[in-house]
Amino acid sequence: MSANPTRHSVNAVSANQPLTTDQLSDGLNAQQMQAFAHTDGAALVLAGAGSGKTTVLTRRIARLIADGVPPEKILVTTFTKRAAQEMGDRLVAMCGEDALAGIWIGTFHAHCLRILKREWAERFGKEGKFDLADEYWQKRVLRAIMGKSDDYARLPQPPFGQNIRFDPKSALLAISSAKNSGYTAENGETAIARLNPDWEPPAVQNAAKIWRCYESAKQKENDVTSKVPSRRLDFDDLLVEAFVLLRDDKAARERYQNQWDYLLVDETQDTSQIQWDFAVLLAKQHGNLFLVGDVGQSVYGFRGCDPRLTVMGFQKAFPLGDIIRLSSNYRSQGTVVTVANELIAHADLDDRYRLAMEATRVEGETPLLTQHVDGESEAAWVVEQLRERLNTEHLQFKDIAVLYRTNAYSRAIEDALIAMGIPYVITGGTGFYNRKEVKDLLAYLQLSVDPHSTAGDAAAKRVLNIASKRLGAPTRFLGAGFIRQVEESAEKLQCSFYEALRRGSYKTTQDVAVRDFREQIKEIHAAGDSAAVRLTAARNSGYDDYILAEEGEKEDDGEGSSRLENLDELVASSARFHSPDAMLTFVAGQIRKANESSRSLDAVNIMTIHRSKGLEWNAVFVIGFAMNLLPHHRCLRYVDGELLAESLEEERRLAYVAITRAKERFALSWPQYHNGKALGPSPFLNEMPTLASQVMTAITTPPPESPLSDEELYDDADDLD
Ligand code: ATP
Ligand code: MG
Repeated sequence: MSANPTRHSVNAVSANQPLTTDQLSDGLNAQQMQAFAHTDGAALVLAGAGSGKTTVLTRRIARLIADGVPPEKILVTTFTKRAAQEMGDRLVAMCGEDALAGIWIGTFHAHCLRILKREWAERFGKEGKFDLADEYWQKRVLRAIMGKSDDYARLPQPPFGQNIRFDPKSALLAISSAKNSGYTAENGETAIARLNPDWEPPAVQNAAKIWRCYESAKQKENDVTSKVPSRRLDFDDLLVEAFVLLRDDKAARERYQNQWDYLLVDETQDTSQIQWDFAVLLAKQHGNLFLVGDVGQSVYGFRGCDPRLTVMGFQKAFPLGDIIRLSSNYRSQGTVVTVANELIAHADLDDRYRLAMEATRVEGETPLLTQHVDGESEAAWVVEQLRERLNTEHLQFKDIAVLYRTNAYSRAIEDALIAMGIPYVITGGTGFYNRKEVKDLLAYLQLSVDPHSTAGDAAAKRVLNIASKRLGAPTRFLGAGFIRQVEESAEKLQCSFYEALRRGSYKTTQDVAVRDFREQIKEIHAAGDSAAVRLTAARNSGYDDYILAEEGEKEDDGEGSSRLENLDELVASSARFHSPDAMLTFVAGQIRKANESSRSLDAVNIMTIHRSKGLEWNAVFVIGFAMNLLPHHRCLRYVDGELLAESLEEERRLAYVAITRAKERFALSWPQYHNGKALGPSPFLNEMPTLASQVMTAITTPPPESPLSDEELYDDADDLD
């Protein structure tokens, strides 16, 4: 849905005056009208980006209500919680709040959670209660599953103490996508081998074993994570359990099949197998399933979503269903549509579902293509452009978005926006300097510079438990009690936390951990005088291993962002500073300024391309449009040195999503060098002749020869504590 209120929309409902069907259909074209008016039976609306799929779906809901369908008979599924909220707001504007009472609008997960809570409470009373296994819980449990039996001797074995080395995040992702594809832990090996064709047999076997143990760790009798044990359900379990409940229990199935007469699903190309099965099951009696989607925008393959199973499986499930195609693009100016059509024409899609968009708006401006020396000059250029747009076109900050493939790439643009005092918000992510691994590494740097300060106290508390990981055994968390004890002694001795730590006397295990921690800080300090050398020393002294063993390389967003990539970015960016201290002062200033600007209501939107799905802005900057960034190197596969075209598919669709967010104009930019490596432009550029023929604005400002001084980097260092 639009991020902006300035969209084409029917007038909002005036006091207690719901819109009539005529008003709701105002301005729709003939194809949209067909979708809007469709009532009984299954329908699949297929269309390219910006053709009004979400608009039509929303208005169709309002139309059903205007026609007398009780709202509690309608179930609407959106891809995100945010989209559900926006759709709800839009419906309130069309129908009035009262007319919507009892409607279900939410994600598949939210619907399933609601059903399970209700059903299990009814059946099992207190015994039906469960807690959610969130990411934090999952990682803790995986650590105990993969740890050595000696270290977890007090826990039931199995599932714990299996002595397996495996990236926890990769294991969780593999389990999640297998569950979403309809597999269970019993056939885990087959599932994981099929879904991860690149994995060697031992990796498959280990992942399958972890999966079996993980399932058993979620049972109440094995819940060792809380004083009041409870059964745990992860997000995928919500889908699986709700589906199994309805599949196996006739009474429950009929109750829910009868509860809703109309089911609607947005972004159906990113529906997983289990979500699809759930929707089809609910629609079985009446068949009133209304789906909208675009196969060209399927970007969650790694989560087990596949348009071939869902969008393309429609005809199999509903042979009499209608397929409605919308061909006019209303969002974007003509050139954006032309370029997007060119790009998506290269996608390997079933021709029956491919549809070029026709522009309805004027041709508009030619998109900008720029190459820059590095990410820094790219970001500076984007911010300059952005300011020009604001001045000459009277846009507001919120009309502009900056999109990138993975989170690590946000660093330069955040730095540049903060430097110019431009407020920004990150949708679905955290600011670069607030990411866990970035904060951890900066804490090591702080300790190597000055452990005896307020910042040093905070840093010591932060990394104390990470340092102990070097002992080889599972992390021996010294715990909050230990930290309090050192804090008290620091107060008594009137010294820094670090000094109090040095002077204390401890139990053997604590003592080993403390000594190791201090040793590590000394090593980092001794590594050299520059921030880059010290940060690298911290990484090599066990931090990267800790991240890989405890967190997993990938970030929690599941979009391919990587914690190690954030660290690479931090180290590369540290070359700008003439001393570690200068870097710490700069970062403290950036964090403070970013916090201040986050309160602004009018802010530039920055986010990964995944997060931008369904949204639109006047001007869109796609940064890092380079080979190995988009397409991202981790997604590329090679056979005998040859790039597998197939591995470009989902990345191309991401590029398509990014470009089609633009209403008026977009710019594609890329750095020649990124973190010391030379990059060419994205290969997708050649797939868009309208762009490729355009003379490229090459911006070749050379990078500064010597690191910048404090004054150049940060002009108000004085007001920092
Ligand atoms: P995406 O594939 O990105 O999710 P979509 O197909 O869901 O896009 P919408 O977000 O519904 O498209 O609509 C895109 C833009 O076009 C919105 O600003 C919407 O208000 C506008 N729009 C849709 N239909 C019409 C129409 N008939 N006349 C004018 N504007 C329209
Ligand atoms: Mg949409």
